[in-house]
Amino acid sequence: MSWEAVIGLEVHVQINSKTKAFCGCSTAFGAEPNTQVCPVCLGMPGQLPVLNSEAVQKTVLTGLAIEATINLESRFDRKNYFYPDLPKGYQITQFPLPLVEHGHLDICVDGREKRIGITRIHLEEDAGKSMHEGLEGVSHIDLNRSGVPLMEIVSEPDMRSADEAVAYLKQLHQLVRFLGVSDADMEKGQFRCDANVSVHRPGTPFGTRAELKNLNSFRFIKQAIDYEIHRQIELIEDGGRVVQETRLFDSSAGVSRSMRGKEEAHDYRYFPEPDLPPLRITADEVERIRAAMPELPAALRARFEQEYGLSAYDADVLSQSRELADYFEALVAAHADPKRCANWLANELLGRLNERGSEITASPVSAQALGALLDRIADGTISGKIAKDVLDAMVESGDSADAIIEARGLKQVSDSDAIDAMIRRVLADHPEEVAAWRGGKERLFGFFVGQVMKASRGKANPALVNQRLRQLLRKE
Ligand SMILES: [Zn+2]
Repeated sequence: MSWEAVIGLEVHVQINSKTKAFCGCSTAFGAEPNTQVCPVCLGMPGQLPVLNSEAVQKTVLTGLAIEATINLESRFDRKNYFYPDLPKGYQITQFPLPLVEHGHLDICVDGREKRIGITRIHLEEDAGKSMHEGLEGVSHIDLNRSGVPLMEIVSEPDMRSADEAVAYLKQLHQLVRFLGVSDADMEKGQFRCDANVSVHRPGTPFGTRAELKNLNSFRFIKQAIDYEIHRQIELIEDGGRVVQETRLFDSSAGVSRSMRGKEEAHDYRYFPEPDLPPLRITADEVERIRAAMPELPAALRARFEQEYGLSAYDADVLSQSRELADYFEALVAAHADPKRCANWLANELLGRLNERGSEITASPVSAQALGALLDRIADGTISGKIAKDVLDAMVESGDSADAIIEARGLKQVSDSDAIDAMIRRVLADHPEEVAAWRGGKERLFGFFVGQVMKASRGKANPALVNQRLRQLLRKE
């Protein structure tokens, strides 16, 4: 009997509010260490936390987007533990009564849809950050991050492979960005994940799980989970036992290492936060937040397929971010052929931006400018092939399509006398091929087309070349 992996994920998503969860300190990333702190987020006595309502609203919005229950009364708790990056000695979080419970997210892996349960989202504060890099034998602590509002999004153990886990994370990452609740920049630690992994024989109870901490790139997450599944199977098959523990994945060595025994909830001695009243939100407020919910990725994909006749693949590519989707719709407004727009945006422009390492938001070619280029294909001024060269130049210089076509003399030749002259020259240069074609070697037609296009340096109108070539071959 084969092994089956069981994976549950805890994702920490920093909410993009301007100020921290319980004080007015700035959450801006990258400031000098320990400059964005106050007595509240430093855990000094005599100061009371005040809850940031923006963080509450954004957590509720996220809960609504995963079709979860919003608890109109929830509670903050203290999770007590000692760690150098936690000056208070406890973290304010939610434990028995979280703000959001019982949601789900649908993923698609290898063409199969699957629903992943989301147990809960609790609102909490981030801890500070330990810094080891470039320091010998010591660690420094930056408390700027301490108190930044965080959603902990806890899934059910519903995933069965690293691919499913990554699909879920990508979907969640896209969702929080669409909702505008988090910038979710993984390199800045704004979207981080812990994975609980176990293996068992299907039909038997779940195995003992190990927790992989602080995974912060989709690639490492896949590597780490695959490694862990493999490690546990080998361990059990060699007669060993998996122990419950927390492990750290070393991405450079490609292995995970034991960090500490895994704590149980009672180890943290949770108790209600005495300095904050229960969090109450009215049903009306929840409805107001629901009414203002933006279009979600799944709805956007479906609309792109239906409204513009895009393939599922193109619809998926073009709905990867709100900015890309907006660009596409602006492009369709500028050039009315949605399939041509999708093709040129997804395959040509994005490919070129990728090579330059830039995002659609930094595109040197606006949707209007790309639309104008596509108009020049549609009206026969240039061929699709030449248009690719023009787009290269547009990305490079930021100039308009018309300016580049004009300056480089790229206008398509649609003058039939000029094309006839080129065709006659090609036929005169290849008498043997002409005789062979007339003798029934139909396949040579493509050869003649190629020669004429080459003679025109790609500028001859291909439809006209086809038409005139057939007539002249027959006649002469
Ligand atoms: Zn503060």
